[in-house]
Amino acid sequence: MSADEQSGHPEQGVQVVRTVLGDVAPGELGVCDAHDHLFLTSPQLPGQELDSVEAAARELAAFRAAGGQSVVQWTPYGMGRRAVELPGLARTSGVRIVAATGLHQAVHYTPELLSALRAEGLDALFVRELTQGIGDSGVRAGLIKVAGGFHGLDAHAHWTMTAAAGAHRATGAPIAVHLELGTGVLDVLDLLCGELGVPPGKVILGHLNRAPDLDVHREAAAAGAWLAFDGPSRAHHATDWRMPDAVRALAEAGHSDQLLLGGDTTTAAARSVNGGPGMPYLLRRVRPRLARAVGEELADRMVTVNAGRAFAVAWPT
Ligand SMILES: [Zn+2]
Repeated sequence: MSADEQSGHPEQGVQVVRTVLGDVAPGELGVCDAHDHLFLTSPQLPGQELDSVEAAARELAAFRAAGGQSVVQWTPYGMGRRAVELPGLARTSGVRIVAATGLHQAVHYTPELLSALRAEGLDALFVRELTQGIGDSGVRAGLIKVAGGFHGLDAHAHWTMTAAAGAHRATGAPIAVHLELGTGVLDVLDLLCGELGVPPGKVILGHLNRAPDLDVHREAAAAGAWLAFDGPSRAHHATDWRMPDAVRALAEAGHSDQLLLGGDTTTAAARSVNGGPGMPYLLRRVRPRLARAVGEELADRMVTVNAGRAFAVAWPT
């Protein structure tokens, strides 16, 4: 079954992508980096924070110059998303930006913040950020980001995924999942889709290149989920080079319409404007390399049509 057949929100209104400057038709995303970060801070990445507005602007300009037209930022709640800066950056760069709500693994937060969120109710927070705005920025999120664990799901993952499923039911928003080192794929699908009833076509699995088990990839794709592959990084160099073969195997198994590509820039050193690959590399080197493995048509579809469909939602009015 294709992702499309499973992706409709029950209300079946017009499907649009919620960008920081408003809702747009899926086709308007153009060439899209389906998983990246303009801003990201965490106690896990000391000294490597993505927190410079000026560097974000230059990175977006470099991405635009390479042919990029949209970026989906997977930075969730409490990790320095800088929502208030995103509309200005989108206007100045001419690049559409989609922001996220959601919650990452517990290690990225203080215990005090997590207990405050427990008291407040996580699904209510997610729904508010998707439908009203992030803080008082007026900027609405277009997806819910959560995270699994290494080959399993702890209590925190159960809590955040249950809240994400509730927010999905209320809004139709897609749920994007950080898979720890690419693992835990089937546990995530069992919980989100099996126990919590989220349609697989509304689940986007991230970091699959970090664990290139082609059999597991095919099982997730056969279930109907989206599979997102990241650009290269120092941390994942051991598996990055297998990405084109993993994508080809999925295409050969009939899952071309469920595949996405993202840069996933998570540290300042990885930005192109600081000498790293950054967002432009996705178009400058990754897409051509992928095109050699799967053909130009599919490589293009992954960064255009597929991205638009993955993030399209019939939002409640
Ligand atoms: Zn990411």
